Amino acid sequence: MSQPYNRVFNFSAGPCTLPVEVLEEARDDLMNYKGTGMSVMEMSHRSKAYERIIGEAEQDLRQLLNVPADYKILFLQGGASLQFANIPMAFLGQGKTADYIVTGAWGKKAVESAKIYGTANVIYDAKGENYNHTPDWNLPKFTDGAEYVHFTTNETIQGVQFKDDPNLSSPVVCDMSSDILSRPVDVSKYQVIYAGAQKNMGPAGATVVILRDSMLARANEGLAPMFDYRVHAENGSMYNTPACWSIYVCGLVYKFMLRNGGLAAQKQQCEAKAKVLYDAIDSSGGFFTGHAMEGCRSLMNVTFTLPSEELTNTFVKETEAAGMDGLKGHRSVGGCRASIYNAFPIEGCEALAAAMKDFAARNG
Ligand code: PMP
Repeated sequence: MSQPYNRVFNFSAGPCTLPVEVLEEARDDLMNYKGTGMSVMEMSHRSKAYERIIGEAEQDLRQLLNVPADYKILFLQGGASLQFANIPMAFLGQGKTADYIVTGAWGKKAVESAKIYGTANVIYDAKGENYNHTPDWNLPKFTDGAEYVHFTTNETIQGVQFKDDPNLSSPVVCDMSSDILSRPVDVSKYQVIYAGAQKNMGPAGATVVILRDSMLARANEGLAPMFDYRVHAENGSMYNTPACWSIYVCGLVYKFMLRNGGLAAQKQQCEAKAKVLYDAIDSSGGFFTGHAMEGCRSLMNVTFTLPSEELTNTFVKETEAAGMDGLKGHRSVGGCRASIYNAFPIEGCEALAAAMKDFAARNG
């Protein structure tokens, strides 16, 4: 089945597929954005046109994710990886402790950075089971008086996802990079949410940080301005030149999602798409094995293994030849990973499921 513009089914873990309608809009505006005589790439971030672009992006994201009025929304740079360091820089220090729940590779990286700035107390680590699950929220080991608890909603490499918002007494800081905007969340359960743009929002470059005012007030003083959330908030994310193009495309994606039923509709689509692939795994008679335990299977990154590395390589080659790109899994899990973010079409999941069935029949 041919895709618009001969596009492949792009299963990349990020950067990844964006909505065709959004790409077309960006293309149409490329040479002359709404009569300004220039593209957004070429435009001063201090111009009226750009102020409107970033202002609307913020407003639309606030509406989409139902962000309460006492939260700031910042568009920063440096990726989620910079937030791994910026969060502890702002909220830890000598004698201060934060709890970390580690359910995969990204949570582990967050701990490595936090340790530099204070005590990062790992209260749960699923490493023993090769990160195949998320724990219950009733963990016994929360530290009294911790500055915050950090967790990762969706571990992109292992394909495990928390299904509920936390309800904890410590302030919650969350890396939502790989499932933000895939479902409604109760933002009031979090003090800080951060996410790189390049999965569900737009091209790489922008990092969204959503911070409650009461948490912002507790941030350490005396940091260099680029690490000081107050400075970014006071300057409307324009302390320095922002990731103009990335924010612009994120804004187009937010409008696209608002036009198409918002997060409730998005969640249904994500569930339907993931079901196609998990059904293919479960009905394969053991030929394909899902990595994540049931109950915490990611709706964004479907991870599974085949009986051998040789078969995995053949499967990846065959699917690639059939227009399915990027299925090779991360070496720490092996097998395959199908990343099916918001904009990934269900037809791609159906094509992969059919390929899996056919491959198992020939090689099982
Ligand atoms: N956290 C998660 C859950 C991720 O998936 C990624 C990137 N794949 C990161 C953090 C790191 O993001 P960045 O590359 O934007 O720094």
